[in-house]
Amino acid sequence: MPELPEVELVARALDRIVGGRVVAKAELLRPGLAPENTPREFARLLRGARVERVGRRGKHILIELDNGQVIITHLRMTGRFLMLPARGALPKHTHALFRLDEGRRLAFTDQRHFGLMKVVHAERLAEARELRDLAPEPFSDEFTPEQLACVLGRTRRTLKDVLLDQTKVTGLGNIYAAEVLFLARLDPFAPANALPRRSVARLHRSILEVFGEAIAHGSTMNVDPEDIEGSYFGGGFSGHWRVYDREGEPCQHCGAGICRISHAGRSTYFCPRCQRG
Ligand SMILES: [Zn+2]
Repeated sequence: MPELPEVELVARALDRIVGGRVVAKAELLRPGLAPENTPREFARLLRGARVERVGRRGKHILIELDNGQVIITHLRMTGRFLMLPARGALPKHTHALFRLDEGRRLAFTDQRHFGLMKVVHAERLAEARELRDLAPEPFSDEFTPEQLACVLGRTRRTLKDVLLDQTKVTGLGNIYAAEVLFLARLDPFAPANALPRRSVARLHRSILEVFGEAIAHGSTMNVDPEDIEGSYFGGGFSGHWRVYDREGEPCQHCGAGICRISHAGRSTYFCPRCQRG
């Protein structure tokens, strides 16, 4: 599942490719993709609109249009955007299709049907259910060690649990949460409200560092405009992961074997020696 860095890279790639283009025609081919818009409304709201900018909020892609509408997209497991030539068969699982003024088509495909799309007016964007409860953006001024300390101090849930909760900290999923906790040398299972202040500062720094390096790494990759997907790091970047998917391998700091604990269908990777704090 794409996490903040992957979604950021998809948004940047989309911005490069469709920014400034006009949607000549929009079709919602699987109504379940955008359950809050009818196919007719979807077509009507988007037809003739120019793409002003493609951005991101949390793990949601925001396609901002010059008629005030915004397309919110969550890729979930297998959602991806593809640029297609003007003519030709659609790929399997094409659930939305945007014909652009220059002739090409932007398709949204989703093999597993977990992706979500919604068209809302920019004025109502902040109150959209998908966005309204999200924690501050990690790279915004609102995300500070003080803010993080306040969030952590209010709950006895485990650190990892809190990091994965998008209303507490935005953008982390299972992979980057493991990386952040390792870099900050923190026990994933420690209660959040027991964290000393200096550890919170380290955690805050680690979140920014892990996201920053992944985005920087991805921005040097050549994103294929014909496959704007959200899983860029499946192959190449995985070699850079510090603990994720490294069960039994030596910790890069202390040499102890990396542990994996499975809970509720999710694996937690950590160094039992470095991450006691
Ligand atoms: Zn270690």
